[in-house]
Amino acid sequence: MMATRKQSRSYVLELSKVSRDFGTEPAVHALVDVDLRLKAGEWLAITGPSGAGKSTLLHILGCLDRPSSGNYFFEGIDAGTLSDDERAGLRSRRIGFVFQSYHLLPHRSVLENVMLAEVYREQSQDGRKERALAALQRVGLSHRVDFLPTKLSGGEKQRVAIARALVGSPSLLLCDEPTGNLDSKSGADILDLFEALNKQGLTLIIVTHDESVARRAGRRVHIIDGSLSEVANGERKRKPTRLSKANVNPHVVGKSEITTRDLFEEALAGMFARPGRMALTILGIVIGLTALVATLGLSRTASNRIISQFDELAATEITITGKSGLSGADPNAIPWDAPARLTRLNGVVAAGTLSEVDIGDDLVRSSPVRDPQSQTAFNLSVQAASPGLFTAVRAELETGRLPDLGHSERMDRVAVLGPNAALRLGIVGIEHLPAIAIGDHLYLVIGILRDVAREPELLGAVIIPEGTAGHDFGLIGPGKVIVETRIGATSLIAQQAPFALRPDDPSALKIEFLPEPQRVRDAVQSDLNVLFLLLGGLSLVVGAIGIGNITLVSVIERTGEIGLRRAIGANRRHIAAQFLLESTSLGVIGGVIGASLGVLIVVVVSAYQVWTPVLDPLAPVLAPLVGGLIGLVSGTYPAMRAAQLEPIEAFRFGT
Ligand code: ADP
Repeated sequence: MMATRKQSRSYVLELSKVSRDFGTEPAVHALVDVDLRLKAGEWLAITGPSGAGKSTLLHILGCLDRPSSGNYFFEGIDAGTLSDDERAGLRSRRIGFVFQSYHLLPHRSVLENVMLAEVYREQSQDGRKERALAALQRVGLSHRVDFLPTKLSGGEKQRVAIARALVGSPSLLLCDEPTGNLDSKSGADILDLFEALNKQGLTLIIVTHDESVARRAGRRVHIIDGSLSEVANGERKRKPTRLSKANVNPHVVGKSEITTRDLFEEALAGMFARPGRMALTILGIVIGLTALVATLGLSRTASNRIISQFDELAATEITITGKSGLSGADPNAIPWDAPARLTRLNGVVAAGTLSEVDIGDDLVRSSPVRDPQSQTAFNLSVQAASPGLFTAVRAELETGRLPDLGHSERMDRVAVLGPNAALRLGIVGIEHLPAIAIGDHLYLVIGILRDVAREPELLGAVIIPEGTAGHDFGLIGPGKVIVETRIGATSLIAQQAPFALRPDDPSALKIEFLPEPQRVRDAVQSDLNVLFLLLGGLSLVVGAIGIGNITLVSVIERTGEIGLRRAIGANRRHIAAQFLLESTSLGVIGGVIGASLGVLIVVVVSAYQVWTPVLDPLAPVLAPLVGGLIGLVSGTYPAMRAAQLEPIEAFRFGT
């Protein structure tokens, strides 16, 4: 609220030497030294040919534009001294606008369109509906309150626009070609309505190039090339009424303002005006956030699975070898009964020895060896294993059986094949008792492995009992021991093992185990996360561009609406706030949907893969926030564009 300079009280408006120029080279003198005074209750018609300056004058009178020079007093207030916000407040409370093209919001009902008049007056919604209904009754449209404007005739639309302008009893109604789009009957009806309103004391200014419209007015001025002159208008001159008390308060001008509730309601209405477009707009954000939440969730789920397998394997394995001296590893470093000694330790799940068998130049052939020369021989690795090794490396059998202690003690010539070795030798099953030859010795294949979790070289190896390897190939001692421990027992077993195996010389053994599985976990996880985050982030950028783009299109499309809002009292801030709120809300909605879909995908994929879904509890909370932030950022430029739009320009291009 602010005090302003007081002029004469008897005039609603007073122009002295008002000029308006546009551009510089060459300047267009749209108005030249216009003097005009209008008393309360007068009905003034402004006529003139196209381009004469009528609209320019109307915009200045409506505080939508400022004169280049001269003074304009509205109800005694010098409009030139008012801030933009105060001028918007003046438009909102004291001036009603009626346009040739109605400027109704097509997706809001008749009643809502009329109620819009009070949105920028920062007043509570109490009684707003009643006041709007009363205004609609004044224009004779009580029976159409719930209609959408698209269902109304041109004359009815203009009545809605007049009702909107009448809410709050403005001091002045400014009409720009109000009958320009109407047939003669509807036009005459509207003029009758104006006459009735004028008789009730409403001050009216109508811009028209229609003679019949101009003749209905009590007073008439004509503009040619920006110069205004009074025209006698028959005997229709009416005695001016006194300014109503409610309207005369020249000392204070309320700024235009909007309540948070109204702002939210306008933004929501703006968003839902076109549900199809809204769905398309948020699609980008939905896809982006779905991708992000899903990929993050899946990466956590998958990496957790990878890690849990990897971790468990790595954290429960100890490998024991003899320390190598100058002449290589000591073949006697590990005793034959190492597995038995180790399994006695608390915390050892399984232990087995594994030794590379030196078969010299011998090759492995599949049997029977009728004609050794004609058979392909393979340079396969031959390994000797104790029975416990198969448990310690978590070997899975494809077919057959594994060798036991008896085979080793009896030095039986039996062999188990790794799957790759079996493939190379062409052995697919053991039903026909296949045999292979290692050098000159014939071995019965008793089993074929499917997989091993540790010691992957076993996949391509021929595995024979230790005793047999000692007998046939002179294996002196075990090459290494593989120990599987319980989780958490590795370091303890690693300390005890040398004393259990070599109490005489514990330092002869080399013990290997993974001390920090957590580091491996972190490395795997962060690798996966970076990749997935990049993918999700990329989708979000695409979503943000989508929201920004569509909001910009909608700003351009809603130019007329922006102009109308400015006319009924919105300032730039209000326009920007509405568009920002719309784009932010779209982002939040996209975020909520995206988070839900993302979580759903993680759960469904996990269920399908029989994994345990791992969800970040923050993701569903953060996603709407991220969505909102993206909406806010991507809506900033379009909102600024909307706010910068001059109301005059908006009317010029937005009809
Ligand atoms: P009318 O309403 O009588 O048809 P206007 O008031 O719209 O006339 O325009 C008066 C003159 O001012 C015209 O020559 C028009 O081209 C010019 N004019 C109006 N607004 C602008 C503007 N924003 N920029 C440049 N010229 C303008």
